Amino acid sequence: MLKNDQLDSWDRENFFHPSTHLAQHARGESPSRVIKTASGVYIEDRDGNKMLDAFAGLYCVNVGYGRTEIADAIAAQASELAYYHSYVGHGTEASITLSKMILDRAPANMSKVYFGLGGSDANETNVKLVWYYNNILGRPEKKKIISRWRGYHGSGLVTGSLTGLELFHKKFDLPLDNILHTEAPYYYRRANLDQTEEQFVAHCVAALEEMIDREGADTIAAFIGEPVLGTGGIVPPPAGYWAAIQAVLKKHDILLIADEVVTGFGRLGSMFGSDHYGLEADIITIAKGLTSAYAPLSGSIISDKVWKVLEQGTDENGPIGHGWTYSAHPIGAAAGVANLKLIDSLNLIENASSVGGYFRSALADALQDHPNVGEVRGEGMLAAVEFVRDKDSRTFFDAADKIGPQISAKLLEQDSVIARAMPQGDILGFAPPFCLSREEADTVVAATQRAVTAVLG
Ligand code: PMP
Repeated sequence: MLKNDQLDSWDRENFFHPSTHLAQHARGESPSRVIKTASGVYIEDRDGNKMLDAFAGLYCVNVGYGRTEIADAIAAQASELAYYHSYVGHGTEASITLSKMILDRAPANMSKVYFGLGGSDANETNVKLVWYYNNILGRPEKKKIISRWRGYHGSGLVTGSLTGLELFHKKFDLPLDNILHTEAPYYYRRANLDQTEEQFVAHCVAALEEMIDREGADTIAAFIGEPVLGTGGIVPPPAGYWAAIQAVLKKHDILLIADEVVTGFGRLGSMFGSDHYGLEADIITIAKGLTSAYAPLSGSIISDKVWKVLEQGTDENGPIGHGWTYSAHPIGAAAGVANLKLIDSLNLIENASSVGGYFRSALADALQDHPNVGEVRGEGMLAAVEFVRDKDSRTFFDAADKIGPQISAKLLEQDSVIARAMPQGDILGFAPPFCLSREEADTVVAATQRAVTAVLG
C-alpha cells in the first residue's frame, strides 16, 4: 500500500481535479482527500475516518454505498462480456432489459431510450436531437434553446452554455450563441418581495413570453429545465410554475426537455420529477440515479412525438449520425438493472419520501428561527438551507466571507458530516442516500445546528 505522503505528492503533481482551485491544490493548500471505502450512508478515508455522506457523492449514490447486489451484477457482466458496442442494431441483454425497465417507469408518452455516459453528454445528445428534429420538419431556423439562470445541465460546450451559473461560463467564452437564459423560479430571491407566489409565477411566465416574442417563436427549438433547480441552489418551483410554463411552450410549439439527472428515479419521492410536477416532457435526461453511480451511465428518454420524426429523418438520410463508443456500455447497463431492482425491492422511493419529509421538517425546526437562516427548503430527499446577513432584507453575506463553505467545513470537522456548499450563494445542500434512517437524519440535523452556531453564533 502506498504511504500517505507518496499519494499526496502524486496527487498534487499528476491529478487534474475537476471543480477544484487548481493552484491552491497544487501548492498543497487544500487537503488531498483520499476516500477508500464506503457502506450505507458512510464513506471512509484512507486513515479510517468515517463520514456521514449527506450528499450521496454528487447526489448520485441513491441506494447507498456497498450494495453487493450491484457490485456482483457488474462483476458478472464484466466476466461474461465486458464490452460490445450498440451501433447498427447491436445490444446486450443488459442494455435491452434496462431500456424496457426505464420505459416501464417513465411517463406514458415516452418511446425509446438513448444511452450515454453522464448527464452532460446526455444533454449534448438532446440538443442535437432537437436540431435534427427541426431540420427534418423543415424548420432549419428553429434552433435556439432556452434555459434558466441557475439551471445546471452539464459543463460541456453546449451544456456548459445551458448551465446558468457564471462560474461555468467565465473565461470559457460561454455561453455559445443561440443559448438563452430566462428567469429562475426562485421565489425566495424574487426582485419584488411584495409579490405572492401566484404573482411571481405570472412574472416568470411574462419574462418567458417576452423572450419568445423578442427572439421569434420560429427561432426557438426547446426549453430545458430541472423539475427542481439543483446545483443552482436546490430550489423547488413555486406552485403552478410548471403548468404555466408548459402552456406557453405548447402555444409556441417549443419542445420541453426535463433534465431529471438529479430528480429521476426517486429523489423527490416520486419515480420522476415529471410525475411529481405534472411535466409532459418531450425528452427526459437521466443519469446519476439510473445506476446510483456504481458505473457511469446516462440516458435520453425520447417521446413518441420526437421519435416518429427521428425515424422519418433516417428514412430520408440514412442512419443517424450520432453515437458514442460507450453508448449503452454493458457494465453500466448491468449496474442500472441491478440498481432499479434494488430500488423496488427495498421500497427506497417510499423511504426517500417519508424519511426525506422527516429530515426536512427536523432541519426547519432546528434552524429556521436562527437570525441568519433565510430559508429552509426542499422536496423529497433533497434539502437546502440558505444563509443571509439580514433576514428581513435578505441581503447576502460578502462572497469573500465564504459563509456556506465555512459551515460545510465546520460540519465535517466537528461531526464528520458531509453537506455541500452550493456553488453560488451561501446555500448548504443536502441530498442523502434514500436509505437514510431517521436516526441518521437526526444526526445530520444536530450536527448542522452545531456547525451553524460555531460559524454564525
Ligand atoms: N444535469 C443536471 C441536472 C445535473 O445535476 C448534472 C450534474 N450535477 C448534469 C446535468 C451533468 O451531469 P454530469 O456531471 O454527469 O455530466
